[in-house]
Amino acid sequence: MHYHWEPLSDGVHRCRLPFLDVTVGVVQGSSGILLIDSGTTLLEASRIADDVAVITGGAVTHLVLTHHHFDHVLGSAGFPGAVSYAPPAVGAALMTRIGEVRAHALEYGADTEAVDRAIAAVRAPDHEVMTVDLDLGDRTVHVEHPGPGHTDHDLVVVVPGEHAVVFCGDLVEESADPAVDAGSDVRAWPHTLDRVLSLGGPDGIYVPGHGAVVDAAFVRRQRDWLSGRS
Ligand SMILES: [Zn+2]
Repeated sequence: MHYHWEPLSDGVHRCRLPFLDVTVGVVQGSSGILLIDSGTTLLEASRIADDVAVITGGAVTHLVLTHHHFDHVLGSAGFPGAVSYAPPAVGAALMTRIGEVRAHALEYGADTEAVDRAIAAVRAPDHEVMTVDLDLGDRTVHVEHPGPGHTDHDLVVVVPGEHAVVFCGDLVEESADPAVDAGSDVRAWPHTLDRVLSLGGPDGIYVPGHGAVVDAAFVRRQRDWLSGRS
């Protein structure tokens, strides 16, 4: 194994990539394997693919990209066999605003050559969605844009179960304060987190885009912290 993967529930794992501590999630169903976000480089992507093969015995069939930031999307070309789902803003970033994605990646210290290799391979998402249910055979995973916050298009991925697992993208961060930039909507963000909390419930397992897995109480505290900033 290249990376450390935490089991979160039956058939659900996540890892924290060493570069920027970004979350990648895996959900295994009887007829499909979903990957959530893809890291920054093709090397990360190939290591993720290797690890997914060890964990699941198969290859990624579905890929969800939560939002257009480089550390979540640039590795996506490393999964050519997967059907990809992303908000329209991700398609726009990858196809028409890739220069901005590249500049953002280099600003954060990504390797120039690795970024350019990923960009040369990048393709548009197969399906531009703001909500979708993905049938993985014995389980269906719900994908939804719960509202503006970190960006105007963040998706969350909800895996039902006794304890629902919610991959929150960067709407929730644990290893640092939530990242606010010009594309963020701090005023709407607390309300969006209320929707995230209703999707995962009080006993949900909430997986931040960066940092350790948290509970509903942590998400409520982050909502309240954001409310104080708007
Ligand atoms: Zn982000």
